[in-house]
Amino acid sequence: MKEEIELIKEGKRLDGRGFDELRRIKIEVGVLKRADGSCYLELGDNKVMAAVYGPREMHPRHAQDAKMAVIKFRYNMAPFSTDDRKRPGPDRRSVEISKVCREAFDPVIIRELYPKMGIEVYVELLQSDAGTRTAGINAASIALADAGIPMKDLVSSIAVGKINGEVVLDLNAAEDNNGEADMPIAMIARTNTITALQMDGRMTQEEFGRGLKLAMGACHQIYELQRAALITRYNQNYESKREEK
Ligand code: UDP
Repeated sequence: MKEEIELIKEGKRLDGRGFDELRRIKIEVGVLKRADGSCYLELGDNKVMAAVYGPREMHPRHAQDAKMAVIKFRYNMAPFSTDDRKRPGPDRRSVEISKVCREAFDPVIIRELYPKMGIEVYVELLQSDAGTRTAGINAASIALADAGIPMKDLVSSIAVGKINGEVVLDLNAAEDNNGEADMPIAMIARTNTITALQMDGRMTQEEFGRGLKLAMGACHQIYELQRAALITRYNQNYESKREEK
């Protein structure tokens, strides 16, 4: 059995956060010139770049869907993003995370509008500190909107977990590595629709309920930040176009 490491001191977590506190979030929209949509996002010490290409003709042709667009989602961790150099290229973990992230967008992207086309989403982790899939989903959501991909809504994502017997929001790497449970979720905040949920470790039914409530509340906060970042970006564009005239 794992020896318990002290992650909570005098009611605070080691980074000073309360149990229900998010890490600092920074969002920049439209940062890449060659992508149709892009977003740079920081969630605490996670740094992620998301880029979207398409809708464009899907290759190889046999992978096309005659009725709707195919979403390709690639989550990748840069070799320099972790403590120990990560071996470059896909591994089991990144294949699984790419699939989960893609599925988190299935209910929102209106794929029927683009038969035979492909929409490519790339999520590159430049620095990781746990919760990278949630940071990736938040960034991808904004990059998809920036690319003008028709969506019913944005998707927002965060993890909750259990450390030293307490249910806490948004685990960092020290908490994730030494905690009892980690549960990333993604949701459409406006309608409270969960589009992805995973669980690593164990929680009681009561803790699960409490964790879910905490995560849902945080997704509402993240949704507002995502919206604000997009509005800021498009107001800027509008202002600079007006100045050009
Ligand atoms: N991690 C790492 N090397 C790896 C995989 C993970 O250093 O090959 C670290 C990284 O900081 C990551 C954390 O472990 O954010 C937690 O990984 P997990 O698989 O739980 O996914 P995440 O919480 O990042 O979505």
